[in-house]
Amino acid sequence: MFDLVIGGQSVATATRFPVLNPATGAPVAEAPNATAEDLDRAVEAAEAAFRDLSARPEEERRSLCEAMAAKLEAHAEELAQLLTREQGKPLNGLGSRWELGAAVAWAKHTCTLSLPVKTIQNDNRGTVELHRKPLGVVGSITPWNFPILIAVWHVVPAVLTGNTVVIKPSPYTPLTTLRFVELMNEVLPAGVLNSLSGDDRAVNLGALMSAHPGIRKIVFTGSSETGRKVAASASATMKRLTLEMGGNDAGIVLPDADPKAIAEGVFWGAFINNGQTCAAIKRLYVHEDVYDAVCEELVNYARGVSVGDGTEEGTALGPMQNRMQFDKVSRLVADAKSRGRVLIGGEPGEGLFFPPTIIADLEDGVALVDEEQFGPALPVIKYRDIDDAIARANDSPWGLGGSIWSKDIQKARGLALRLETGSAWVNKHVAIQPDAPFGGVKGSGLGTEFGEEGLQEYTDIQVLSY
Ligand code: NAD
Repeated sequence: MFDLVIGGQSVATATRFPVLNPATGAPVAEAPNATAEDLDRAVEAAEAAFRDLSARPEEERRSLCEAMAAKLEAHAEELAQLLTREQGKPLNGLGSRWELGAAVAWAKHTCTLSLPVKTIQNDNRGTVELHRKPLGVVGSITPWNFPILIAVWHVVPAVLTGNTVVIKPSPYTPLTTLRFVELMNEVLPAGVLNSLSGDDRAVNLGALMSAHPGIRKIVFTGSSETGRKVAASASATMKRLTLEMGGNDAGIVLPDADPKAIAEGVFWGAFINNGQTCAAIKRLYVHEDVYDAVCEELVNYARGVSVGDGTEEGTALGPMQNRMQFDKVSRLVADAKSRGRVLIGGEPGEGLFFPPTIIADLEDGVALVDEEQFGPALPVIKYRDIDDAIARANDSPWGLGGSIWSKDIQKARGLALRLETGSAWVNKHVAIQPDAPFGGVKGSGLGTEFGEEGLQEYTDIQVLSY
Protein backbone atom coordinates (compact mmCIF):
# COMPACT_ATOMS: atom_id res chain seq x y z
CA MET A 1 0.00 0.00 0.00
CA PHE A 2 1.44 3.38 -1.04
CA ASP A 3 0.37 6.40 1.00
CA LEU A 4 1.41 10.01 1.34
CA VAL A 5 3.70 10.97 4.18
CA ILE A 6 2.83 14.32 5.77
CA GLY A 7 4.41 15.49 9.02
CA GLY A 8 5.92 12.04 9.53
CA GLN A 9 2.50 10.34 9.36
CA SER A 10 1.11 8.04 6.70
CA VAL A 11 -1.92 9.69 5.09
CA ALA A 12 -4.46 7.76 3.04
CA THR A 13 -6.48 9.64 0.43
CA ALA A 14 -10.14 9.30 -0.58
CA THR A 15 -9.24 8.35 -4.14
CA ARG A 16 -6.37 6.53 -5.81
CA PHE A 17 -5.15 6.01 -9.34
CA PRO A 18 -3.53 2.99 -10.99
CA VAL A 19 0.15 2.95 -11.93
CA LEU A 20 0.82 0.67 -14.90
CA ASN A 21 3.82 -1.51 -15.71
CA PRO A 22 4.93 -0.27 -19.14
CA ALA A 23 6.25 -3.72 -20.10
CA THR A 24 2.90 -5.47 -19.61
CA GLY A 25 0.22 -2.79 -19.22
CA ALA A 26 -0.81 -4.46 -15.94
CA PRO A 27 -1.31 -2.35 -12.80
CA VAL A 28 1.66 -2.36 -10.41
CA ALA A 29 -0.23 -0.69 -7.55
CA GLU A 30 -2.47 2.27 -6.85
CA ALA A 31 -1.10 5.66 -5.82
CA PRO A 32 -2.84 8.24 -3.65
CA ASN A 33 -4.62 11.18 -5.26
CA ALA A 34 -3.75 14.10 -3.01
CA THR A 35 -5.99 17.16 -2.74
CA ALA A 36 -5.27 20.87 -2.39
CA GLU A 37 -5.93 20.44 1.36
CA ASP A 38 -3.26 17.72 1.53
CA LEU A 39 -0.86 20.19 -0.07
CA ASP A 40 -1.74 22.84 2.55
CA ARG A 41 -1.17 20.30 5.33
CA ALA A 42 2.15 19.20 3.83
CA VAL A 43 3.34 22.81 3.58
CA GLU A 44 2.28 23.50 7.20
CA ALA A 45 4.14 20.40 8.40
CA ALA A 46 7.22 21.43 6.42
CA GLU A 47 7.04 25.00 7.78
CA ALA A 48 6.92 23.69 11.34
CA ALA A 49 9.85 21.34 10.72
CA PHE A 50 11.82 24.17 9.09
CA ARG A 51 11.86 26.17 12.33
CA ASP A 52 13.70 23.30 14.03
CA LEU A 53 15.90 22.08 11.17
CA SER A 54 17.16 25.50 10.12
CA ALA A 55 18.25 26.22 13.69
CA ARG A 56 20.38 23.07 13.88
CA PRO A 57 24.13 23.29 13.20
CA GLU A 58 25.28 22.18 9.77
CA GLU A 59 26.99 19.10 11.23
CA GLU A 60 23.68 17.80 12.58
CA ARG A 61 22.01 18.24 9.24
CA ARG A 62 24.96 16.48 7.62
CA SER A 63 24.38 13.50 9.94
CA LEU A 64 20.75 13.40 8.85
CA CYS A 65 21.80 13.40 5.21
CA GLU A 66 24.34 10.64 5.86
CA ALA A 67 21.56 8.62 7.47
CA MET A 68 19.42 9.19 4.36
CA ALA A 69 22.25 7.97 2.11
CA ALA A 70 22.74 4.87 4.27
CA LYS A 71 19.01 4.09 4.30
CA LEU A 72 18.85 4.49 0.54
CA GLU A 73 21.80 2.17 0.08
CA ALA A 74 20.31 -0.45 2.37
CA HIS A 75 17.06 -0.45 0.35
CA ALA A 76 18.62 -0.01 -3.10
CA GLU A 77 17.60 -3.43 -4.44
CA GLU A 78 14.00 -3.13 -3.21
CA LEU A 79 13.70 0.31 -4.81
CA ALA A 80 15.36 -0.86 -8.05
CA GLN A 81 12.84 -3.70 -8.41
CA LEU A 82 9.96 -1.29 -7.87
CA LEU A 83 11.46 1.25 -10.27
CA THR A 84 11.72 -1.31 -13.07
CA ARG A 85 8.11 -2.31 -12.57
CA GLU A 86 6.72 1.22 -12.73
CA GLN A 87 9.23 2.89 -15.07
CA GLY A 88 10.04 0.01 -17.43
CA LYS A 89 13.83 0.44 -17.46
CA PRO A 90 15.87 -2.76 -17.12
CA LEU A 91 17.29 -3.85 -13.81
CA ASN A 92 20.77 -4.07 -15.32
CA GLY A 93 22.94 -2.02 -17.67
CA LEU A 94 22.16 1.69 -17.39
CA GLY A 95 18.86 0.75 -15.70
CA SER A 96 17.34 0.67 -12.23
CA ARG A 97 20.32 -0.73 -10.33
CA TRP A 98 22.53 1.85 -12.02
CA GLU A 99 20.03 4.60 -11.11
CA LEU A 100 19.97 3.53 -7.46
CA GLY A 101 23.76 3.26 -7.39
CA ALA A 102 24.02 6.77 -8.81
CA ALA A 103 21.43 8.06 -6.32
CA VAL A 104 23.51 6.68 -3.44
CA ALA A 105 26.71 8.16 -4.90
CA TRP A 106 25.09 11.57 -5.32
CA ALA A 107 23.64 11.50 -1.81
CA LYS A 108 27.03 10.55 -0.32
CA HIS A 109 28.92 13.19 -2.25
CA THR A 110 26.41 15.90 -1.34
CA CYS A 111 27.02 15.01 2.33
CA THR A 112 30.64 16.14 1.94
CA LEU A 113 29.72 19.66 0.81
CA SER A 114 29.60 22.75 2.95
CA LEU A 115 28.83 26.46 2.60
CA PRO A 116 30.95 28.11 5.29
CA VAL A 117 30.65 31.76 6.20
CA LYS A 118 32.84 33.82 3.89
CA THR A 119 34.68 36.83 5.30
CA ILE A 120 34.66 39.59 2.72
CA GLN A 121 36.39 42.18 4.87
CA ASN A 122 38.05 42.08 8.26
CA ASP A 123 40.19 45.14 9.02
CA ASN A 124 40.21 48.31 11.05
CA ARG A 125 37.18 49.61 9.09
CA GLY A 126 35.09 46.65 10.25
CA THR A 127 33.98 43.15 9.31
CA VAL A 128 31.77 42.06 6.44
CA GLU A 129 30.60 38.45 6.30
CA LEU A 130 28.60 36.54 3.71
CA HIS A 131 26.18 34.00 5.20
CA ARG A 132 24.14 31.42 3.29
CA LYS A 133 20.70 30.94 4.80
CA PRO A 134 18.11 28.29 4.03
CA LEU A 135 14.98 29.42 2.24
CA GLY A 136 12.15 27.57 3.98
CA VAL A 137 9.88 25.02 2.32
CA VAL A 138 11.17 23.70 -1.00
CA GLY A 139 8.69 22.22 -3.49
CA SER A 140 10.25 19.47 -5.60
CA ILE A 141 8.53 18.45 -8.84
CA THR A 142 10.04 15.48 -10.67
CA PRO A 143 9.62 13.70 -14.05
CA TRP A 144 9.16 10.03 -14.99
CA ASN A 145 12.50 9.26 -16.62
CA PHE A 146 14.85 9.02 -13.60
CA PRO A 147 12.40 9.41 -10.70
CA ILE A 148 14.58 8.33 -7.80
CA LEU A 149 17.87 9.84 -8.94
CA ILE A 150 16.23 13.20 -9.53
CA ALA A 151 14.39 13.02 -6.18
CA VAL A 152 17.78 12.59 -4.48
CA TRP A 153 19.22 15.50 -6.49
CA HIS A 154 16.44 17.70 -5.10
CA VAL A 155 16.04 16.46 -1.54
CA VAL A 156 19.56 15.95 -0.16
CA PRO A 157 21.01 19.41 -0.91
CA ALA A 158 17.77 21.00 0.32
CA VAL A 159 17.97 19.24 3.69
CA LEU A 160 21.73 19.71 4.08
CA THR A 161 21.27 23.47 3.78
CA GLY A 162 18.42 23.46 6.33
CA ASN A 163 15.32 23.51 4.14
CA THR A 164 12.34 21.19 4.39
CA VAL A 165 10.69 19.59 1.38
CA VAL A 166 7.37 18.71 -0.19
CA ILE A 167 8.05 16.36 -3.12
CA LYS A 168 5.65 15.51 -5.91
CA PRO A 169 6.62 12.81 -8.43
CA SER A 170 5.20 12.37 -11.93
CA PRO A 171 1.81 10.62 -12.13
CA TYR A 172 3.50 7.98 -14.35
CA THR A 173 6.10 6.96 -11.74
CA PRO A 174 5.01 7.94 -8.21
CA LEU A 175 5.58 4.64 -6.39
CA THR A 176 9.36 4.59 -5.98
CA THR A 177 9.30 8.16 -4.68
CA LEU A 178 6.47 7.43 -2.22
CA ARG A 179 8.44 4.48 -0.86
CA PHE A 180 11.66 6.55 -0.79
CA VAL A 181 9.94 9.23 1.32
CA GLU A 182 8.56 6.58 3.67
CA LEU A 183 12.08 5.17 4.15
CA MET A 184 13.67 8.58 4.64
CA ASN A 185 11.10 9.38 7.30
CA GLU A 186 12.56 6.54 9.36
CA VAL A 187 15.68 8.68 9.83
CA LEU A 188 14.43 12.27 9.44
CA PRO A 189 12.50 14.38 11.97
CA ALA A 190 8.77 14.59 11.18
CA GLY A 191 7.86 17.15 8.52
CA VAL A 192 11.33 17.49 6.98
CA LEU A 193 10.32 15.46 3.91
CA ASN A 194 6.68 15.14 2.84
CA SER A 195 5.21 13.45 -0.23
CA LEU A 196 2.23 14.17 -2.44
CA SER A 197 1.07 12.34 -5.53
CA GLY A 198 -1.80 12.77 -7.92
CA ASP A 199 -2.95 11.93 -11.41
CA ASP A 200 -2.91 15.59 -12.63
CA ARG A 201 -6.59 15.34 -13.64
CA ALA A 202 -8.99 17.01 -11.18
CA VAL A 203 -6.11 18.62 -9.28
CA ASN A 204 -2.76 19.68 -10.76
CA LEU A 205 -0.56 19.56 -7.69
CA GLY A 206 2.51 20.92 -9.50
CA ALA A 207 0.60 24.01 -10.57
CA LEU A 208 -0.74 24.51 -7.03
CA MET A 209 2.76 24.10 -5.57
CA SER A 210 4.21 26.67 -7.99
CA ALA A 211 1.67 29.24 -6.80
CA HIS A 212 1.60 28.26 -3.10
CA PRO A 213 2.56 31.19 -0.81
CA GLY A 214 4.09 28.86 1.80
CA ILE A 215 6.63 27.38 -0.65
CA ARG A 216 9.79 29.49 -0.99
CA LYS A 217 11.48 27.62 -3.83
CA ILE A 218 10.54 25.24 -6.60
CA VAL A 219 13.11 22.81 -7.93
CA PHE A 220 11.60 21.40 -11.08
CA THR A 221 12.84 18.80 -13.54
CA GLY A 222 10.63 18.18 -16.54
CA SER A 223 9.59 19.49 -19.91
CA SER A 224 10.30 23.01 -21.14
CA GLU A 225 6.60 23.67 -21.60
CA THR A 226 5.77 22.88 -17.97
CA GLY A 227 8.92 24.62 -16.70
CA ARG A 228 7.78 27.88 -18.28
CA LYS A 229 4.40 27.52 -16.53
CA VAL A 230 6.18 26.99 -13.22
CA ALA A 231 8.27 30.14 -13.76
CA ALA A 232 5.19 32.19 -14.62
CA SER A 233 3.15 31.16 -11.58
CA ALA A 234 6.13 31.31 -9.21
CA SER A 235 6.72 34.96 -10.05
CA ALA A 236 3.78 36.21 -7.96
CA THR A 237 5.48 35.03 -4.75
CA MET A 238 9.08 35.58 -5.94
CA LYS A 239 9.98 31.97 -5.38
CA ARG A 240 13.53 30.89 -5.97
CA LEU A 241 13.70 28.56 -8.95
CA THR A 242 15.87 25.80 -10.26
CA LEU A 243 14.47 24.59 -13.56
CA GLU A 244 16.03 21.61 -15.34
CA MET A 245 14.13 21.39 -18.58
CA GLY A 246 14.36 19.85 -22.03
CA GLY A 247 17.20 19.68 -24.50
CA ASN A 248 18.08 18.75 -28.05
CA ASP A 249 21.74 17.84 -27.60
CA ALA A 250 23.93 17.52 -30.67
CA GLY A 251 26.81 15.08 -31.00
CA ILE A 252 29.36 16.06 -33.64
CA VAL A 253 31.72 13.46 -35.11
CA LEU A 254 34.91 14.90 -36.63
CA PRO A 255 36.58 13.38 -39.73
CA ASP A 256 39.44 11.88 -37.70
CA ALA A 257 37.20 9.88 -35.35
CA ASP A 258 37.50 6.09 -35.32
CA PRO A 259 33.96 4.84 -36.13
CA LYS A 260 34.41 1.48 -34.45
CA ALA A 261 35.95 2.97 -31.31
CA ILE A 262 33.19 5.57 -30.79
CA ALA A 263 30.14 3.45 -31.71
CA GLU A 264 29.41 2.17 -28.20
CA GLY A 265 29.76 5.60 -26.58
CA VAL A 266 27.64 7.33 -29.20
CA PHE A 267 25.00 4.62 -29.03
CA TRP A 268 24.56 4.82 -25.26
CA GLY A 269 24.92 8.60 -25.34
CA ALA A 270 21.78 8.57 -27.48
CA PHE A 271 19.88 5.52 -26.24
CA ILE A 272 20.47 5.61 -22.48
CA ASN A 273 17.08 4.99 -20.83
CA ASN A 274 15.62 4.53 -24.32
CA GLY A 275 16.56 8.11 -25.19
CA GLN A 276 14.20 9.30 -22.45
CA THR A 277 17.05 11.30 -20.94
CA CYS A 278 17.30 15.07 -20.76
CA ALA A 279 20.93 15.29 -21.89
CA ALA A 280 21.10 12.43 -24.40
CA ILE A 281 22.40 12.84 -27.96
CA LYS A 282 19.22 13.77 -29.82
CA ARG A 283 20.82 14.58 -33.20
CA LEU A 284 24.12 13.31 -34.57
CA TYR A 285 26.17 15.34 -37.05
CA VAL A 286 28.78 13.20 -38.83
CA HIS A 287 31.52 14.42 -41.18
CA GLU A 288 31.16 13.11 -44.73
CA ASP A 289 34.58 11.37 -44.60
CA VAL A 290 33.43 8.96 -41.89
CA TYR A 291 29.67 9.14 -42.42
CA ASP A 292 29.09 5.70 -43.96
CA ALA A 293 31.47 3.99 -41.56
CA VAL A 294 29.89 5.62 -38.48
CA CYS A 295 26.40 4.64 -39.67
CA GLU A 296 27.55 1.06 -40.21
CA GLU A 297 29.25 0.76 -36.80
CA LEU A 298 26.25 2.25 -34.98
CA VAL A 299 23.96 -0.27 -36.64
CA ASN A 300 26.34 -3.14 -35.82
CA TYR A 301 26.32 -2.09 -32.19
CA ALA A 302 22.53 -1.58 -32.08
CA ARG A 303 21.96 -5.10 -33.45
CA GLY A 304 23.51 -6.56 -30.30
CA VAL A 305 21.27 -4.66 -27.87
CA SER A 306 18.48 -6.74 -26.39
CA VAL A 307 15.08 -5.11 -25.93
CA GLY A 308 12.59 -6.71 -23.56
CA ASP A 309 10.87 -6.75 -20.18
CA GLY A 310 13.18 -4.96 -17.77
CA THR A 311 12.70 -7.60 -15.08
CA GLU A 312 14.56 -10.15 -17.25
CA GLU A 313 18.22 -10.00 -16.27
CA GLY A 314 19.54 -9.98 -19.88
CA THR A 315 17.53 -6.98 -21.03
CA ALA A 316 19.51 -3.88 -22.06
CA LEU A 317 16.57 -1.66 -23.06
CA GLY A 318 13.00 -1.91 -21.77
CA PRO A 319 9.77 -0.49 -23.14
CA MET A 320 9.14 3.23 -23.43
CA GLN A 321 7.58 4.62 -20.29
CA ASN A 322 4.16 5.79 -21.43
CA ARG A 323 1.72 5.99 -24.33
CA MET A 324 1.93 9.77 -24.69
CA GLN A 325 5.70 9.62 -25.33
CA PHE A 326 5.41 6.46 -27.47
CA ASP A 327 2.87 8.16 -29.74
CA LYS A 328 5.07 11.24 -30.05
CA VAL A 329 8.11 9.18 -31.06
CA SER A 330 6.00 7.12 -33.49
CA ARG A 331 4.82 10.32 -35.16
CA LEU A 332 8.33 11.78 -35.44
CA VAL A 333 9.75 8.52 -36.82
CA ALA A 334 6.94 8.09 -39.39
CA ASP A 335 7.65 11.60 -40.67
CA ALA A 336 11.46 11.17 -40.68
CA LYS A 337 11.21 7.85 -42.56
CA SER A 338 9.76 9.60 -45.57
CA ARG A 339 12.64 12.10 -45.59
CA GLY A 340 15.65 9.91 -44.77
CA ARG A 341 16.97 6.35 -44.79
CA VAL A 342 16.11 3.94 -41.98
CA LEU A 343 19.27 2.12 -40.91
CA ILE A 344 17.66 0.05 -38.16
CA GLY A 345 14.28 -0.09 -36.41
CA GLY A 346 11.70 2.36 -37.66
CA GLU A 347 8.50 0.48 -36.80
CA PRO A 348 6.77 0.74 -33.41
CA GLY A 349 6.66 -2.63 -31.66
CA GLU A 350 4.04 -4.29 -29.44
CA GLY A 351 2.66 -2.43 -26.45
CA LEU A 352 5.14 0.27 -25.49
CA PHE A 353 8.16 -1.46 -27.01
CA PHE A 354 9.93 0.64 -29.62
CA PRO A 355 13.11 -0.80 -31.15
CA PRO A 356 16.24 1.37 -31.25
CA THR A 357 15.83 3.37 -34.44
CA ILE A 358 18.53 5.15 -36.43
CA ILE A 359 17.55 7.25 -39.44
CA ALA A 360 20.27 8.68 -41.69
CA ASP A 361 20.39 11.30 -44.47
CA LEU A 362 18.23 13.76 -42.54
CA GLU A 363 18.55 17.54 -42.56
CA ASP A 364 17.74 20.31 -40.14
CA GLY A 365 14.10 21.28 -40.56
CA VAL A 366 12.86 17.68 -40.15
CA ALA A 367 10.89 17.43 -36.90
CA LEU A 368 12.97 14.48 -35.60
CA VAL A 369 16.06 16.72 -35.84
CA ASP A 370 14.56 20.00 -34.61
CA GLU A 371 12.32 18.75 -31.79
CA GLU A 372 13.07 16.86 -28.59
CA GLN A 373 12.06 13.28 -29.42
CA PHE A 374 12.79 11.95 -25.91
CA GLY A 375 12.77 8.38 -27.19
CA PRO A 376 14.82 5.68 -28.95
CA ALA A 377 15.13 7.34 -32.37
CA LEU A 378 18.37 8.99 -33.48
CA PRO A 379 18.58 11.22 -36.56
CA VAL A 380 21.95 11.27 -38.37
CA ILE A 381 22.92 14.31 -40.44
CA LYS A 382 25.90 14.52 -42.81
CA TYR A 383 28.08 17.65 -42.74
CA ARG A 384 31.12 18.90 -44.64
CA ASP A 385 32.23 22.05 -42.82
CA ILE A 386 32.81 22.00 -39.05
CA ASP A 387 31.89 25.68 -38.58
CA ASP A 388 28.57 24.92 -40.24
CA ALA A 389 28.03 21.89 -37.96
CA ILE A 390 28.73 23.97 -34.84
CA ALA A 391 26.39 26.71 -36.08
CA ARG A 392 23.64 24.13 -36.67
CA ALA A 393 24.19 22.56 -33.26
CA ASN A 394 23.81 26.01 -31.70
CA ASP A 395 20.80 26.97 -33.80
CA SER A 396 18.40 25.64 -31.18
CA PRO A 397 16.18 27.13 -28.49
CA TRP A 398 17.79 24.68 -26.04
CA GLY A 399 21.29 24.43 -24.58
CA LEU A 400 21.65 21.50 -22.22
CA GLY A 401 24.59 19.37 -23.44
CA GLY A 402 26.69 18.66 -26.51
CA SER A 403 29.64 16.50 -27.52
CA ILE A 404 32.54 16.36 -29.96
CA TRP A 405 33.98 13.00 -31.02
CA SER A 406 37.58 12.97 -32.27
CA LYS A 407 41.06 11.50 -31.77
CA ASP A 408 42.45 15.04 -31.43
CA ILE A 409 41.48 15.97 -27.87
CA GLN A 410 42.82 19.53 -28.00
CA LYS A 411 40.99 20.30 -31.21
CA ALA A 412 37.80 18.74 -29.85
CA ARG A 413 38.16 20.70 -26.62
CA GLY A 414 38.32 23.98 -28.55
CA LEU A 415 35.23 23.09 -30.56
CA ALA A 416 33.34 21.90 -27.47
CA LEU A 417 33.89 25.33 -25.91
CA ARG A 418 32.03 26.85 -28.86
CA LEU A 419 28.86 24.91 -28.05
CA GLU A 420 26.14 27.03 -26.41
CA THR A 421 25.39 24.44 -23.74
CA GLY A 422 25.60 24.04 -19.97
CA SER A 423 27.70 20.88 -20.40
CA ALA A 424 30.10 20.00 -23.21
CA TRP A 425 31.84 16.66 -23.51
CA VAL A 426 34.66 15.18 -25.60
CA ASN A 427 34.32 11.54 -26.67
CA LYS A 428 31.46 11.00 -24.19
CA HIS A 429 27.97 12.29 -23.58
CA VAL A 430 25.67 12.72 -20.57
CA ALA A 431 28.75 12.09 -18.41
CA ILE A 432 27.39 13.87 -15.36
CA GLN A 433 29.03 13.55 -11.95
CA PRO A 434 28.05 14.72 -8.45
CA ASP A 435 30.93 17.20 -8.05
CA ALA A 436 30.45 19.02 -11.38
CA PRO A 437 27.61 21.57 -11.72
CA PHE A 438 24.94 20.62 -14.26
CA GLY A 439 22.32 22.85 -15.82
CA GLY A 440 21.01 24.23 -19.05
CA VAL A 441 21.48 27.53 -20.85
CA LYS A 442 18.90 29.21 -23.11
CA GLY A 443 15.54 27.37 -23.01
CA SER A 444 16.95 24.37 -21.14
CA GLY A 445 16.50 25.91 -17.74
CA LEU A 446 17.58 28.15 -14.98
CA GLY A 447 20.23 27.53 -12.35
CA THR A 448 22.42 24.51 -11.73
CA GLU A 449 22.46 21.36 -9.65
CA PHE A 450 25.33 19.43 -8.02
CA GLY A 451 28.47 20.52 -6.28
CA GLU A 452 28.87 23.69 -4.29
CA GLU A 453 27.17 25.79 -6.98
CA GLY A 454 24.14 23.50 -6.80
CA LEU A 455 24.05 23.68 -3.01
CA GLN A 456 24.07 27.48 -3.09
CA GLU A 457 20.76 27.40 -4.96
CA TYR A 458 19.02 26.24 -1.79
CA THR A 459 20.09 29.36 0.06
CA ASP A 460 19.68 33.11 0.08
CA ILE A 461 22.61 35.38 0.87
CA GLN A 462 22.71 37.53 3.97
CA VAL A 463 25.56 39.99 4.24
CA LEU A 464 26.40 40.89 7.82
CA SER A 465 28.41 44.00 8.48
CA TYR A 466 29.72 45.18 11.87
P1 NAD B 1 6.47 17.11 -17.56
O1 NAD B 1 6.81 18.56 -17.69
O2 NAD B 1 5.31 16.62 -18.31
O3 NAD B 1 6.22 16.74 -16.03
C1 NAD B 1 7.17 17.03 -15.03
C2 NAD B 1 6.46 17.21 -13.72
O4 NAD B 1 5.69 18.40 -13.74
C3 NAD B 1 5.50 16.08 -13.35
O5 NAD B 1 5.64 15.81 -11.96
C4 NAD B 1 4.14 16.70 -13.63
O6 NAD B 1 3.10 16.14 -12.85
C5 NAD B 1 4.38 18.14 -13.22
N1 NAD B 1 3.43 19.11 -13.78
C6 NAD B 1 2.48 18.93 -14.75
N2 NAD B 1 1.84 20.10 -14.99
C7 NAD B 1 2.38 21.03 -14.17
C8 NAD B 1 2.15 22.42 -13.96
N3 NAD B 1 1.24 23.10 -14.66
N4 NAD B 1 2.90 23.06 -13.05
C9 NAD B 1 3.86 22.41 -12.35
N5 NAD B 1 4.12 21.08 -12.50
C10 NAD B 1 3.38 20.40 -13.41
O7 NAD B 1 7.81 16.35 -17.95
P2 NAD B 1 8.02 14.76 -18.09
O8 NAD B 1 7.32 14.36 -19.35
O9 NAD B 1 7.71 14.08 -16.82
O10 NAD B 1 9.59 14.65 -18.30
C11 NAD B 1 10.19 14.72 -19.55
C12 NAD B 1 10.89 16.05 -19.76
O11 NAD B 1 11.76 16.32 -18.68
C13 NAD B 1 11.75 16.12 -21.00
O12 NAD B 1 11.53 17.33 -21.69
C14 NAD B 1 13.18 16.10 -20.47
O13 NAD B 1 14.13 16.68 -21.30
C15 NAD B 1 13.01 16.80 -19.17
N6 NAD B 1 14.07 16.45 -18.23
C16 NAD B 1 15.05 17.37 -17.95
C17 NAD B 1 16.10 17.05 -17.10
C18 NAD B 1 17.18 18.04 -16.83
O14 NAD B 1 17.91 17.85 -15.88
N7 NAD B 1 17.31 19.11 -17.59
C19 NAD B 1 16.15 15.80 -16.49
C20 NAD B 1 15.14 14.87 -16.78
C21 NAD B 1 14.10 15.23 -17.65
